[in-house]
Amino acid sequence: MKPIVTRFAPSPTGALHIGGLRTALFNYVYAKQNNGKFLIRIEDTDTERSTKEFEKNILDNLTSIGLQPDEDPINQSERNAIYLKAAEKIFQSGNAYWCDCSQDELEEMRREQTAAGKKPMYDGRSRNLGLERSNKTVLRLATPENGEIIVNDLIRGEIKFNNNELDDLILLRSDGSPTYHLCNVVDDYEQKVTTVIRGEDHISNTPRQIHIQNALGYPELEYAHLPLVLGTDKKRLSKRNAATSLEEYRDKGYLDSAILNSLARLGWSQGENEVFYLDDLIKDFNIKDVQKAGAIFDITKLDWLNSQHLSKLNLDEFKDLLEPFLNNMGININDHENVDLLIDSLRTSDNNLSGIATQLFPYYKDIKDYDYDAIKKFLSNNNILHDLKEILINLEDWNEESINHLLTKYQHENNLKVPQVNQPIRIALTGKTKSPGLGLTLVIFGKKLAIKRIEELIKICDK
Ligand code: GLU
Repeated sequence: MKPIVTRFAPSPTGALHIGGLRTALFNYVYAKQNNGKFLIRIEDTDTERSTKEFEKNILDNLTSIGLQPDEDPINQSERNAIYLKAAEKIFQSGNAYWCDCSQDELEEMRREQTAAGKKPMYDGRSRNLGLERSNKTVLRLATPENGEIIVNDLIRGEIKFNNNELDDLILLRSDGSPTYHLCNVVDDYEQKVTTVIRGEDHISNTPRQIHIQNALGYPELEYAHLPLVLGTDKKRLSKRNAATSLEEYRDKGYLDSAILNSLARLGWSQGENEVFYLDDLIKDFNIKDVQKAGAIFDITKLDWLNSQHLSKLNLDEFKDLLEPFLNNMGININDHENVDLLIDSLRTSDNNLSGIATQLFPYYKDIKDYDYDAIKKFLSNNNILHDLKEILINLEDWNEESINHLLTKYQHENNLKVPQVNQPIRIALTGKTKSPGLGLTLVIFGKKLAIKRIEELIKICDK
């Protein structure tokens, strides 16, 4: 059997899209699990919409997330001569013809077909005219008029297309430039691709491309059309319903491993096992198990997976990844007396690193803003905070156990509920009602700063 070769063939008309990354991932994994090759081809023949910036973005993102290609990527914009040669070969074999139908003529044809209740398509009127090439002619493929094309899709099984529903597609435009389908087919052959894994929006292209392959005498390819990636509103994932670029997720502090994990779950699942890494995927992925129905990209799932992946890091790894997020807020991670205790205690305070950095802010810097609703709720009677301040000032042994003991004692003696005692202190320390266990939080802040913050809040409440 030939070694498996897959390819990801993005058009660089935008930054790498999360849906595109899922396609690249499945191509990569399928190649690796078959000891094959994963290639990249930049489909940049649309010179108006393609840019070098988008191309760089796509390549950098793929490489940095770990989906390196096994050969240097190729660019279609540099391969014109190869496509022209292939077009010539098809023409010489009698499988293509020159057509000089004008736009007006084609429109008229479509109007008539629609009026007669037929599917509008090119009717092949120039096929037997034996026209010569000119600057008004396009080269069309002479698609077989009868019979059918059967695509054996690895995910969808057998898909049949009637040839009489496919029109004679254009291979070369009147300016001599090759069309998308021709370039795509020629490159799959030239790159020795064996398996085309791409989005289901390409299904209708497949029979057309197979006809070009047949005209060129190319071998058959394996196909797998992946389910579309949808937003939670069940519409195609786009900027309207979600962040779509990899950078946006990285900037929020989602780990690459969690992003890949959640993308693999878009259409594929490994039984009960939700949390896995790229290596696990290479071991366990089975393209035949990919679902046909659209796959919903749900941020709450990514949040959960990210928290799982974060929890697998040791403290040093976690700190290294968190550091840039703190730096962005003007914080040096080591600028705290109890840095390890602090980070370890707050590492589950949010699902992503930017959220965790935000939670950490009041531990490093003065409180930026208080939760005034919480102040209203818990500090209408600020005698409690006065009492607690006195009690804490008098505490010699500033450790978790003795602090908790004191707070519980005060609570019982005054017949109060836990939040009535704890939340005023939490608000004083962090501005909010959320923090690790209160004894631990007070230890992290240290006695001096804790008392200072309590005094500050008392002042605010006294106003
Ligand atoms: N360039 C196409 C796209 O970006 C992909 C073509 C293919 O995978 O065959 O959608």
